[in-house]
Amino acid sequence: MNQVFSLERLKGNKMRCQYCGEELKFERGRGWIHTDGGLYKQYCPMCGWKGGAYPPATYCPVCGFGEIRDDHIARPVPPKD
Ligand SMILES: [Zn+2]
Ligand SMILES: [Zn+2]
Repeated sequence: MNQVFSLERLKGNKMRCQYCGEELKFERGRGWIHTDGGLYKQYCPMCGWKGGAYPPATYCPVCGFGEIRDDHIARPVPPKD
């Protein structure tokens, strides 16, 4: 899969996550991340909480459940040419 984007392109276009539709930003050394700073979106299977902060949460901030799952990794929608 070719997922290489030029810097020119990064400046001009707002990229959105193809999984959640949220706007993504590009951080040097980390790549694409969600607006709240996390590479991954996380979710809690107990209460349905979703978040994506960085560093990632270990416990659900709502119900305290300790086995939060990764929902998806930030991935920009491939540009249409
Ligand atoms: Zn997303
Ligand atoms: Zn929870």
